[in-house]
Amino acid sequence: MDLLEYQARELFESFGVPVLAGVVATTPGAAREAFDQLDTDVAVVKAQVRAGGRGKAGGVKLVRSAEEAESTASDILDLVIKDLPVDVVMLSPGADIVAEYYFSILLDRTAGSYLAMCSVEGGIDIETLAVERPEALVKVPLHPIEGVTPEVAADIVERAGFDDADRQAVAAVLVKLWTVFRESDATLVEVNPLVKVAGGDIIALDAKVTLDENAEFRHDTWGGYHETSAAVDLERQARELDLNYVKLDGNVGVIGNGAGLVMSTLDVVDRAGKDLPGQPKPANFLDIGGGASSTVMANGLRIIISDPQVKAVLVNVFGGITACNDVAQGIVAALDVLGDEATLPIVVRLDGNSVEVGKAILREANHPLIRVEETMDGAAAAVAKLASERG
Ligand code: GDP
Ligand code: MN
Repeated sequence: MDLLEYQARELFESFGVPVLAGVVATTPGAAREAFDQLDTDVAVVKAQVRAGGRGKAGGVKLVRSAEEAESTASDILDLVIKDLPVDVVMLSPGADIVAEYYFSILLDRTAGSYLAMCSVEGGIDIETLAVERPEALVKVPLHPIEGVTPEVAADIVERAGFDDADRQAVAAVLVKLWTVFRESDATLVEVNPLVKVAGGDIIALDAKVTLDENAEFRHDTWGGYHETSAAVDLERQARELDLNYVKLDGNVGVIGNGAGLVMSTLDVVDRAGKDLPGQPKPANFLDIGGGASSTVMANGLRIIISDPQVKAVLVNVFGGITACNDVAQGIVAALDVLGDEATLPIVVRLDGNSVEVGKAILREANHPLIRVEETMDGAAAAVAKLASERG
């Protein structure tokens, strides 16, 4: 679960990490008031979206008056950054930056441990730095219990090449950021840039935090962190029903059983749609798993067709533990429950365990939206054509 910058800033503040004041606004008028409230000559208006590179996208701007804060906030609130509409901005007092550094702690899944990364060349895209000047990025594996002790922090700042005069102040901040990481069950705490301002103070100017959702049960403050977009909402509903649902970009809803079958189904749909008008592609991915009951099938279908981008649905099931008659019953039951809400054509390809019974159920239901195909390629071609015709 990724936090917005202002949420991460508050989290940092609660652990004593030095940050600038921050006031959140959702309207230009509120941004104007926020400027006055900050009581500063220069403020920075920052888009609050879960994406990096906001600066380059025009989502971070300095302003020098309440009027300018209002008009700049209005511009930024109109932006869409990496497909994410900006609904919130944060205003902070402008920092008089002397130097920009980089620091992060993350869960290194490959190594099975935590990793700290640090550079005196911050502010820029860290992936670029890692590729172009890897020697400028210090990587230090962390002991999972000890983490960033004062000794480890001293080692990091020395190896990263901080000036002697700054080492102690920076190291103190790194130790606090480890506390944030550990106490918040984070999998990422990234500060880019960590800055030195005029006067020598070290401040976390940007904050990126990812929390481990598996730990949510022991953090009663996390409720407010959930994203509210419709796509994420569907993913959450699916998770609560124990369904593996992934939102994709296209317009063909895909339901299958087993990750392997679902993934190959995505490929054949993609191929079938390649030469059709509008190039229909999979809109989502829903794996109802092995042993799926008719209820699971019904829940899955309801989630898939709640995605407004979906124009046609493909159900591709190979009956193993899951019997095809259960799947067929699930489809019919879901359409029953949905009634007039169900308007999308559903192409069904069943094979394996109890396939004949399954097909008989679908035949008998004789539902105008259901179309049975014999092969996976045939089903993919049919659903791609339907999605293409329906735009
Ligand atoms: P990002 O582009 O999404 O990573 O957003 P950041 O919060 O990191 O801001 C991008 C850049 O804007 C920083 O690296 C700084 O160079 C600059 N910036 C951000 N806040 C201030 C500020 O208060 N004063 C000044 N002078 N520059 C800032
Ligand atoms: Mn940044």
